Amino acid sequence: MDIISLTAIELKEKLKNREISAREIATAYLDRIKDKEPEINAFITVTEEEALKAADRVDEKIRNGEDLGLLAGIPIAVKDNISTKGIRTTCGSKMLENYIPPFEATVVEKIKEEDGIIVGKTNMDEFALGSSTETSYFGTTKNPHDTERVPGGSSGGSAAAVAAKEAPLSLGTDTGGSIRQPAAFCGVVGIKPTYGLISRYGVVPMANSLDQVGPFGRNVKDAALLLQAIAGHDERDSTSMDINIPDYINSLTGDVKGMKAAIPKEYLELEIDSNIKDSLLNAVNVLKDIGVEIEEVSLPNIKYALPDYYIISTSELSTNMSRYDGIRYGHRAESFVDIDDLIIKSRSEAFGREVKRRIMLGTYSLSKGHADEYYKKALKVRTLIKNDFDKAFTKYHIILGPTTPKLPFKIGEITDPVTMYKSDLFTVAVNLAGICALSMPCGSANGLPVGIQIMGDRFKEINILKAAYALEMSLGGEM
Ligand code: GLN
Repeated sequence: MDIISLTAIELKEKLKNREISAREIATAYLDRIKDKEPEINAFITVTEEEALKAADRVDEKIRNGEDLGLLAGIPIAVKDNISTKGIRTTCGSKMLENYIPPFEATVVEKIKEEDGIIVGKTNMDEFALGSSTETSYFGTTKNPHDTERVPGGSSGGSAAAVAAKEAPLSLGTDTGGSIRQPAAFCGVVGIKPTYGLISRYGVVPMANSLDQVGPFGRNVKDAALLLQAIAGHDERDSTSMDINIPDYINSLTGDVKGMKAAIPKEYLELEIDSNIKDSLLNAVNVLKDIGVEIEEVSLPNIKYALPDYYIISTSELSTNMSRYDGIRYGHRAESFVDIDDLIIKSRSEAFGREVKRRIMLGTYSLSKGHADEYYKKALKVRTLIKNDFDKAFTKYHIILGPTTPKLPFKIGEITDPVTMYKSDLFTVAVNLAGICALSMPCGSANGLPVGIQIMGDRFKEINILKAAYALEMSLGGEM
């Protein structure tokens, strides 16, 4: 049996029917990781021993006839900014190179409760700042479709691991596009859930008002399965909402007749690779053919989303980064003369250039004399962007757009930070508005994957999943 080519849902079925054991599944994936890692570098840490132990426990449950969880026996890779008790969690930074969390993130706890098997921690841009995984202290991850190219970022390791079949499912985090953009670059499905759907407890914050954890899968149903397992209220995160979580998987019927969708005209006016535009318009036609009504809509303030995001996210980031002082935890310089010197040296040595750049940007935006001009104004613009979406969602179930303006670029190709920031042109507005969105493959150009972005209203994941599943079926299944 070609275990690594089965979907997560198929693996679970075969496990339940006793056609395969959890240990066999885990071993197949751990072997695959050993084969692929020299080429891809999707992982910072592989948790072989823990994975095999967890698999044995699932097999024991099966032998004892116990009930199995939603993720029974499915190997899952977790981004390295999500705390794992007793397992190094580096955030892709020298600062946390040796940091071992004494506690577990709620999402990890949930995966374990549902009998999922954690196979390792994935590579990422340092502290989730980036769109290429090139800022990782642990080396760049390679795009499995072309190893000279980036996998996207900041959750590049999680996207590449799923694309390279090193894991059927993985978790990433998305503050401005870090799940959707690498999903598009690696040709997999990535979901950025509504702000408040998933607990952020134990997730190292980048920008607290924007961060959200979400799943990657090779197809829509697999990704929806992991979403189902991690969604829901957590009393340890007061921003997580206490709402009923619908049954995502059983709502995926392929029927989208009567669904209303919009395309923001401002998105089509922006600079976008012609191959991406063609694939997007093709997908739009496919959706029309299966019964989705599609119109153009105007979201007039969306053009401010990128600068708005960079002011708000760097402001929050600069505050979050102050905890890394070389005293409480994190890297500490070997020699120093006094406490100021200790803090300055530790931070200078352990943070990369992009982290330092953003600390400076954020500190400036928040500083006395500039906060009104930048930070407070950015918050007002954020409300305008949110209002644009709110208005559109009174009329439409979903909004369609490209995920990225460009195809995956070459490693080392983009050296200018502002050009890199433009990779997030189409994704950041979703985080500012707190709504949900996913990226899924909708074609390819020059042998590279192209993603389409499907956005939905707050806590209406069901709508974007239904549309995505129907589109995936019409495009011929997993790509
Ligand atoms: N690429 C974006 C940035 O660099 C998004 C990061 C993220 O979503 N974590 O800020």
